[in-house]
Amino acid sequence: MANNPRREFLKKGLAGICGAAVIPGVLGPRSAQAASAAPSVARNTVPALPGRPLGKTGLTTPLISMGTAEAPTVEFIRQGYDAGITFFFSATYYGHGNNERLVGQALKDLPRDSYVVGTAVTPDGMNARGGTMPKDMKAEAYVKTAEESLKRFGLDHVDMLFMPFAEKREFIIFDPILEAMAALKKQGKIRFAGIATHSGCDVALKAAADAKAYDVVMTSYNHKIENKEAMAEALAYAAKAGLGIFAFKTTAGGGRAKAGDPPFDSNAALKWVLQNPHVSSIISGMSSVEELRKNLALLDDIKLTEPELRSLTLAANRPELDLYCRQCRQCDGQCPAGLDIPTLMRSYMYAYGYRNAAQARATLDDVAISGEPCGTCDRCRVSCASGFDVRGRVRDIARLKAVPMEFLRG
Ligand code: SF4
Ligand code: SF4
Repeated sequence: MANNPRREFLKKGLAGICGAAVIPGVLGPRSAQAASAAPSVARNTVPALPGRPLGKTGLTTPLISMGTAEAPTVEFIRQGYDAGITFFFSATYYGHGNNERLVGQALKDLPRDSYVVGTAVTPDGMNARGGTMPKDMKAEAYVKTAEESLKRFGLDHVDMLFMPFAEKREFIIFDPILEAMAALKKQGKIRFAGIATHSGCDVALKAAADAKAYDVVMTSYNHKIENKEAMAEALAYAAKAGLGIFAFKTTAGGGRAKAGDPPFDSNAALKWVLQNPHVSSIISGMSSVEELRKNLALLDDIKLTEPELRSLTLAANRPELDLYCRQCRQCDGQCPAGLDIPTLMRSYMYAYGYRNAAQARATLDDVAISGEPCGTCDRCRVSCASGFDVRGRVRDIARLKAVPMEFLRG
């Protein structure tokens, strides 16, 4: 055990963060391969995690990448790096830019060719609900917004820039964005251009492939999606066009177990995603050494077992316990008070599924609500395709609005 540096490192790291020790033996065979893992100084001695080629980028990405939205500290991100994670993803809308600063701090001083960093930059004026943009948008404006992101990272370039909330074909194959991406590449400020799609993902993937201007895509993809065939086809289409594919929202918001049910197995959900060979890597939002450990252990064997498959089926058949809003927008326009239900349900998922109160609160800030939003309604008119108790969830999550941001982690 004493000669297992990755395990030793993680033991020290957890003690640093939590003042507790990790139980030896939890990392499994993968960690036993490490030769040295002194924090961030002996990178080339940490064995590479299993990976897949990333489209035509020439990169190979580990099967697990770190989504940093929930990363609590600089040290935690460094722990991920020291454990073999090499791809890190942030977004301008995580913590109002603070997350990019956090990631920049974590990566500074590391050899620039030892990690890949990407960020999702929302164009000014974009309506995240539907991914629409002002028709008179200028490429220069998006370049400027991306440059502000670079400043927050403290980097002269990011490897990947994603336009998030991509949904509609006309705003994916959209001249101002394509021109901006081309200019940023030419100036050496980004290496690869991409989109991130949360809703209408099959359409978005095909549009990104047809644009012939993107290198990578990030898509919501999990065992609960209803259009599995359409997504399988779209993923194959995008891969054939040479796009490197990342998947996120892969645990579908986690899950709650009913008394007597086996607990929801997040690793089974991740394995389900990796069964699709076109997915190069999962962007996993990790917030604790425990999750990091669990993710690394998963890589020892990504084959989905029968019991794991059964646990996913069980979770999928319990809509009343579901936390995942699939952003299908079937509820659009149903609330007479005009509430943005998909965004409120997303906030609820962040709070109760991912247990990220800061992200839930930041998402709530995008919705115009105050007081008790359902207060004047005698009954809820919203019929959710997933069967959510919309009124109950709206009333519950709206309470978070009253909590000052500084009391929430972010
Ligand atoms: S119908 Fe339900 S699952 Fe679909 S977007 Fe609305 S709240 Fe989410
Ligand atoms: S109860 Fe709330 S969510 Fe439902 S229709 Fe009324 S205001 Fe809208």
